[in-house]
Amino acid sequence: MEIKYLGTAAAEGVPAMFCKCPVCENIRAIGGKELRTRTQILIDGELSIDFPPEAYVHSFKYGFDCADIKYLLVTHSHMDHFYAHDFILRGYRYAEGFSAPLEIYGNSEVAAVFSECTAREMKPSVAPNIKMHVIKPYSRLEIGGYKVLTLPANHSKTEEAMLFYIEKGGKGYLHMHDTSIPEDGIYGFLKSNGARACVVSFDCTYADRTGISRPRHMNIEDCMSVKQKLVSFGVCGEDTKYVITHFSHNCNPLTSRLAEIEKKFSLKAAYDGMNIIV
Ligand SMILES: [Zn+2]
Ligand SMILES: [Zn+2]
Ligand SMILES: [Zn+2]
Repeated sequence: MEIKYLGTAAAEGVPAMFCKCPVCENIRAIGGKELRTRTQILIDGELSIDFPPEAYVHSFKYGFDCADIKYLLVTHSHMDHFYAHDFILRGYRYAEGFSAPLEIYGNSEVAAVFSECTAREMKPSVAPNIKMHVIKPYSRLEIGGYKVLTLPANHSKTEEAMLFYIEKGGKGYLHMHDTSIPEDGIYGFLKSNGARACVVSFDCTYADRTGISRPRHMNIEDCMSVKQKLVSFGVCGEDTKYVITHFSHNCNPLTSRLAEIEKKFSLKAAYDGMNIIV
């Protein structure tokens, strides 16, 4: 299984889109690896988790074709995770040569955002080229050759945001963002469904920042408490790789600063374009 981290920033990007704070000004000046686009993960070149406004730019920057994405799992409807306007381009005079509809899986708000964002410009001939599936937490799905478990995130009071466990060929990937510390029920569900993660990706929006409330996202302490629970339930073990991502300008996510967290907690801080093969 190949897991590509195409974007590693929180909603506002790093540097933040409209921000003149010292962190953003510094990162703008340094550029390169310090720049982070909004979150997207691509598995085996065919299954995308989330579809941010940069999905199109990601495609030519990191060498894949948006038309080759067969399945799109959407964590929740926030615009940094689901930029639905783009889907009006999947057909008519804008696109040709794909053989099957894009299968999108998301909660009912994701389906509602899809309808809202495409209402003005969707051509009747394009609509059949996208198929929306409404899903709920604590489901077991079979998507292409992937076994998918859906779990509730702790992220929104107005929609059922989701975490995903994705498995193929005996390799498992556990995707845990956007979320604050999730409810305890997820661990038993993962265990009873035989989940065994080779890679876990944590929402670490606040990096090592403490002393702020974290109702929707985590910092490194939160990530480590979730890790302990995953280990105690046997979902993770000695060979599991841990990744932190979805960084905000509020935590000054310079790679040099994240390197200290990597060392201290034996994990990897994602950057745009990072690739993991398990
Ligand atoms: Zn987000
Ligand atoms: Zn800023
Ligand atoms: Zn969100």
